[in-house]
Amino acid sequence: MKILLPDSIADILNTFEKNGFEAYVVGGCVRDSLLGREIHDWDVTTSATTEEMCRCFAEERLLATGEKHGTMTLIKDGMPVEITTFRTEGVYSDGRHPDGVIFSRNLTDDLSRRDFTVNAMAYNPTKGLIDCFGGQKDCQDGIIRCVGEAAARFTEDALRILRAFRFMSKLRTAEGLGFRIEAETVHAAADCAERIGMLSAERIREELEGIITAERAGETLALLKETGILQEIPGLEETAATGREWACFPRELPVRMALLFWDLPAEQVKRRMGLLRFKNSDIKSVCGLLENSRAAIRSDEDLLMLAGRLEAEGALVLLQMRSLLGEEEAQSAEKRLHNLLAEGRCFKTGQLAVSGNDMIQLGLKGREIGCMLDRLLKEVMNGAPNERAALLKKAERYFLEFIQKENK
Ligand code: ATP
Ligand code: MG
Repeated sequence: MKILLPDSIADILNTFEKNGFEAYVVGGCVRDSLLGREIHDWDVTTSATTEEMCRCFAEERLLATGEKHGTMTLIKDGMPVEITTFRTEGVYSDGRHPDGVIFSRNLTDDLSRRDFTVNAMAYNPTKGLIDCFGGQKDCQDGIIRCVGEAAARFTEDALRILRAFRFMSKLRTAEGLGFRIEAETVHAAADCAERIGMLSAERIREELEGIITAERAGETLALLKETGILQEIPGLEETAATGREWACFPRELPVRMALLFWDLPAEQVKRRMGLLRFKNSDIKSVCGLLENSRAAIRSDEDLLMLAGRLEAEGALVLLQMRSLLGEEEAQSAEKRLHNLLAEGRCFKTGQLAVSGNDMIQLGLKGREIGCMLDRLLKEVMNGAPNERAALLKKAERYFLEFIQKENK
C-alpha cells in the first residue's frame, strides 16, 4: 500500500523523523487517496508537541492556529498544512466540545478518537498504512462505521451524526459504488438524533450544505427522513425533501435548498434558513426562486420580467428547475429566454439607453423617476427600440401628459 505524497508533505514527515518524532498524514487525505479522490488538504499528525514542532521548523513559517488543541499551521511552498499533536478523546460533558484536550505520544490513541473507520487511518512512507479499525476494507466496501461503539461516539459529539450522512452523500468507492452507513451506526444515529439540537446552528448548516450539494443528496435525505433524523435538524421539521430526482438538479446551494423547500411559502423558508444562519445572499436567492415558482412564463415580457427579478442566471435556473419538476411549458420558456438574452434584450432599467439622471434633467422628481423608467422598460420589453433619443422623447411626452392631468 503506497500513497503518493506531494514533495512538501514528504519533506515535513522527514523533518519530524530526523528529529526523532513520529509523523503521518491522517484522516480525510488518506481516505481520499484510497478512494482515488482528489485531495484538497493534507493533514499531519505527530508525536511532537507544538513546542517541539517549533524547534523542528525553526527556519520556516509556523503559525499558532490552534495551539491549545495542539494544532499549528506550517506554510510550506506557499500552502498551509495543519499539523496536530497526537490527542486522545477528552470527556464531552456538553455533547458538543471536549472539556479539555489530552495529548498523547501514541498514534493509536489519536486514531481512536476519530469519528469513522475510513477517517481513522494514518500513513507515512516508512511505516506504510496504519489502519487499526478496518478503514481500508470499509473504503473498499463503501461503509461508514463508527470507531468504537456508535451510540457512545454520537453521544459525545452529535455532529458526527450529520458527518456520517455527509460522507454517505459524497463518497464513492474506487469502483464507483455509493457509500452506505453500517446498520449499528444508523440505529445509534437515530437514537441520538435529539442531540443535534444541542449543536450550534453554524455547524449544523455546514454539514447540511455538504449533504444537499453532494452527489447522492437524494438517497441521503431519504434515509435521514426514514430514520426520523431529518426532523431533528432545526428548520427542517416537516420538510418533504424526498421523492425527487435530486441527481438531475444543478448542485448549487440555492437550487438544492429551494428544492428542499419547494412547496413552502418563501416567508417561512426565510425564517427556517435564518434559524440555521445561512448567508443572507443565499436566503435571498432561495426565496427568489420560491417566490417565482408559479410566476407567469408565457410571454416574452413575462420572461424578461422574471430575469429582472432574479437576474438572467437566476431566471434560467428557475426555468430549468420548473422544467425538471415536470412543468412542460418551462422547457420551451428556458430556450426562449436564452434567445432573448442572446439578442441583448433589456430586462432591467439599468440597461435602458436613458438613466435616472436624464429623468431629472426632464424635471422629474422622487418616485416619478423610478415609475417613468419602469414604464419605459415595459415598452422596451414589449419590443420598442432601446434608443436614447426615442426614449427621451417618450419620457418627455408622458411627463407632460402627467403634469396636465395633475393640473386639471
Ligand atoms: P473533508 O474531505 O470533508 O474535509 P475530512 O475527513 O478531512 O473530510 P475534516 O472535518 O476535515 O474531515 O476532519 C479531518 C479529520 O478529523 C477527519 O478525517 C476525522 O479523522 C477527524 N474529525 C473531524 N471531525 C471529527 C469529529 N467531530 N469527531 C471525530 N473525529 C473528527
Ligand atoms: Mg478535511
